[in-house]
Amino acid sequence: MTTPQPRATVAEIPPYVAGKPPTVRPGMTSYKLSSNENPYPPLPGVVEAVQAGVAAMNRYPDMGSAALYAALAETFDVPADDLSVATGSVGLIYQLVQAFCDPGDEVVFAWRSFEAYPIAVTAAAATAVKVPVLPDGRHDLEAMAAAITDRTKVVLVCTPNNPTGPAVTQAELDAFLAQVPSHVLVVVDEAYVEFVRMADPVDGIATYRRHENVVLTRTFSKAYGLAGFRVGYAVAPAPIAAALRAVSLPFGVSTVAQAAAIASLERRDELFERVEALVVERTRVVEGLRAAGWDVPEAQGNFVWFDLGDRTADFAAAADAAGITVRPFAGEGARVSIGEPEANDRLIQVAAAFR
Ligand SMILES: *Cc1c(COP(=O)(O)O)cnc(C)c1O
Repeated sequence: MTTPQPRATVAEIPPYVAGKPPTVRPGMTSYKLSSNENPYPPLPGVVEAVQAGVAAMNRYPDMGSAALYAALAETFDVPADDLSVATGSVGLIYQLVQAFCDPGDEVVFAWRSFEAYPIAVTAAAATAVKVPVLPDGRHDLEAMAAAITDRTKVVLVCTPNNPTGPAVTQAELDAFLAQVPSHVLVVVDEAYVEFVRMADPVDGIATYRRHENVVLTRTFSKAYGLAGFRVGYAVAPAPIAAALRAVSLPFGVSTVAQAAAIASLERRDELFERVEALVVERTRVVEGLRAAGWDVPEAQGNFVWFDLGDRTADFAAAADAAGITVRPFAGEGARVSIGEPEANDRLIQVAAAFR
């Protein structure tokens, strides 16, 4: 008997390995540092804003997300036509590949980078072209430009790069964009943009204004602390944003997600105080690790990378025994999110002892 068969590429989709929840240990607080979440609870007023949406759960959300588009347009001083909201920036990456790639078209990205990339690319039956990051965890933009072929439709630039940490500079991005043919879409994944503190940082908005082929993807999941609600947005030239909206899941962004995102945009000052506190903690962690002899790559997101090779599983186990859950990448290394100060202290202790 023949049964329905998904297309062959479905079997090739790599699984998404979600960050594990912490192991519960009696008498010890455990911390989840495995998914780059924001350790802070929602800002005052955000839960209240969501409550009105909860009471209206029998109704579909505003399909046009009109209030959220208006809030984003005002906050970032861009036309609403240049925006596309979605169920997290993972949703946007799926939509980008779906809208721009035919089966077999190539999508170039750094590796290791965000694990959702090969999933989204393979799900669309496009071909992933992975360009190894440099030994210090940076994108090899020269090699990425050289990897562009006649089949390339999209290049993904993850800055800061998850999981290794470094961000590209504006000069590096400009030099790269100058080499990319104008029909190739360059997606700048700025999931951690709010955490960047460096010389010559990328100004994503200014960059998209100067190029017809540049898309920024951003999220409310990390700095804004709304990972559980699934909302992200793209900033792109109007024809590209329109294509993204055309392939989007109708009613994808829920009423509560829209309300939480708007309320968070209204509280950006308070929010950025929290981001700043996380950046201060990040600096403390990186300095503590370097003082203990670790060679930590530049950390521009809310996480640090440990290049561990085949000691990765042992490191994850040692962290787990100390009540912190990290994200191991078997045989490569571990990514550890910046969390509560107590959690960060424990990380420094575990890492110092492990070395
Ligand atoms: C977390 C993350 C995202 C976004 O996730 P969503 O929750 O889907 O918005 C996108 N890109 C990178 C590199 C990330 O680390």
